[in-house]
Amino acid sequence: MTILSDRAWRSTGRDAGIKVSFEFFPPTTEKAVSNLVNTANDLAQFDPDFVSVTYGAGGTGNDCSFDAIQTLRKSGDMNVAAHLTCAGATKRQSDQKIREYAAAGIRHIVALRGDAPSGQPYAPHPGGYENAAELVAGIRKIGDFDISVAAYPETHPDAPSRAADIFNLKKKLDAGANRAITQFFFDNESYFKLLDDTQAAGIEAPIVPGILLIHDFNRVRSFAQACGASVPAWLEARFEGLENDPETHQMMAVSVAVEQVLELAAEGCDNFHFFTLNKSGIASTVCRTLGLSPALENRSAA
Ligand SMILES: Cc1cc2nc3c(=O)[nH]c(=O)nc-3n(C[C@H](O)[C@H](O)[C@H](O)COP(=O)(O)OP(=O)(O)OC[C@H]3O[C@@H](n4cnc5c(N)ncnc54)[C@H](O)[C@@H]3O)c2cc1C
Repeated sequence: MTILSDRAWRSTGRDAGIKVSFEFFPPTTEKAVSNLVNTANDLAQFDPDFVSVTYGAGGTGNDCSFDAIQTLRKSGDMNVAAHLTCAGATKRQSDQKIREYAAAGIRHIVALRGDAPSGQPYAPHPGGYENAAELVAGIRKIGDFDISVAAYPETHPDAPSRAADIFNLKKKLDAGANRAITQFFFDNESYFKLLDDTQAAGIEAPIVPGILLIHDFNRVRSFAQACGASVPAWLEARFEGLENDPETHQMMAVSVAVEQVLELAAEGCDNFHFFTLNKSGIASTVCRTLGLSPALENRSAA
């Protein structure tokens, strides 16, 4: 059982200004679509600020992305943000997508560069936006969107230096983005360091921590390798030997996420973006621990 310290408890709940958002990936089968709708409906009770749907770089799965956005918007009263990557697309193609989003009434875009196909170094499309900062400027020219961009507590692997990475983030925000959402991280110190570095660089926009919920620790290792995030030894130790013990694996995943968000909340963090992998169980428990349980709210209103 997790016992909240008084300080941690006071820093949770909607009264403490805690807001959450959930990230989904676009489903590709009918069964996966219905699973996503169920997940989103389960998580709607936490009144998310927004939910977002990822976008395959280079044109893969983009129709699924748009379909998933429309399905989520029809299935409930949720603010759905669309991710958009510029990798592998001409400016015309990107602009067309932005106009499609505007015409469909989508008001929030998570603007990203995207990556090259696996293992290859990134190169911008010759007629495309070169990076996310250029994409943000392009979006701003087309419509009045709320725009989020990516930030990297452990520095993006393509960045020539930490300072260049922070400068790049500043360029994205100066180009018109409203907030940054971070890549996932497991040691909160890396997020606190990012806050220090961005503050020193004059960045005032919110930097929302991205929290990965661990549904399968083996997959986390490969996600981390792909995006340059580290998997600390203490985390490895916690999941060691749990490959064939789904129940303990799930409890451990809840425990790790709860510890992480409570520490962030106790340090003043009031906004959390969860990478859900389209599952609601762990996200739901974590949100309840953050004081977002509807039952608790009803009780305090009575
Ligand atoms: C919250 C979040 C959501 C994501 N969603 C998706 C998604 O839906 N689909 C998807 O495909 N990927 C997604 N990604 C992954 C993202 O596309 C990759 O991390 C990608 O490698 C970088 O994207 P970016 O927008 O940060 O790029 P950018 O900010 O353009 O640049 C990435 C890095 O390259 C370096 N760089 C950029 N321009 C220059 C320059 N001119 N000179 C020197 N260095 C430069 C910078 O250090 C920078 O940190 C997401 C990441 C996060 C954190």
